[in-house]
Amino acid sequence: MIEFMNVDKIYPNGTQALQNLNLKIEQGEFVAVIGLSGAGKSTLIRCINRMHDITEGQLLVDGTDITNLRGKQVRDLRRRIGMIFQSFNLVTRISVIKNVLVSFVPDNALWRNIIGLYTKQQKVKALEALDKVGILEKAYIRVDQLSGGQQQRVALARTLAQNPAIILADEPIASLDPVTSKLVMDDFKRINKEMNISVIMNIHHVEVALEYADRIIGVRAGEVVFDGPTSKVTDDI
Ligand code: ADP
Ligand code: ADP
Repeated sequence: MIEFMNVDKIYPNGTQALQNLNLKIEQGEFVAVIGLSGAGKSTLIRCINRMHDITEGQLLVDGTDITNLRGKQVRDLRRRIGMIFQSFNLVTRISVIKNVLVSFVPDNALWRNIIGLYTKQQKVKALEALDKVGILEKAYIRVDQLSGGQQQRVALARTLAQNPAIILADEPIASLDPVTSKLVMDDFKRINKEMNISVIMNIHHVEVALEYADRIIGVRAGEVVFDGPTSKVTDDI
């Protein structure tokens, strides 16, 4: 469970990106955060895994105020909260499975992964994660040989391999064509429903948000201007 309590985020240059934000997100929800460019969507999402620090208020994850977490505690938080980016953030010159295995290796030991030191159990977990997003047959292909949609599914598999409770997705389909976007969104939906992993997705395709999310949070100038089930959303928000 995630709870924002009177959260402000002011960047060092003085830009106020979030203003007195109050939100509660329960385990297993599929939430789409929508709003114009610059509204604060990305900031909102990135505070949840401490990519950004909040300036005021409290941000609770499973009852713990994450503001005060340090070092290893932040790494543990990020293991429980997967992150998916618009740009996939994969190592494109190595194989798909090696990219997934990266999730088992501490940040400072990437070399281990590149030279192929990992356990059989880790390899099985990586292959299972690839199977869940339908790209098991691509496991030994280099990432730069895959389409954008396939690459995003590798990123999703990498996140799944660490057994997250929550997946944050920052514009995950922004660089994909409509057909591929649908495949990727279907994966998010299936993961959300079958594995009860919360999905919090920042997305500017409102019609996609309406099709897939259970709940819509509308943000404008750092404030929540709409928050409700998708069925309650009308065209004029
Ligand atoms: P969105 O994701 O809705 O496009 P952002 O959260 O990226 O919005 O940005 C919200 C506001 O904060 C914008 O005015 C943006 O320019 C500003 N902003 C975002 N990141 C930074 C940063 N690192 N430093 C200063 N201002 C930032
Ligand atoms: P995206 O749309 O993928 O969130 P942006 O173009 O909004 O990307 O931001 C790219 C990077 O630049 C982010 O790390 C964001 O925090 C930072 N950024 C965005 N707006 C500003 C700003 N006004 N000043 C400084 N950094 C910013």
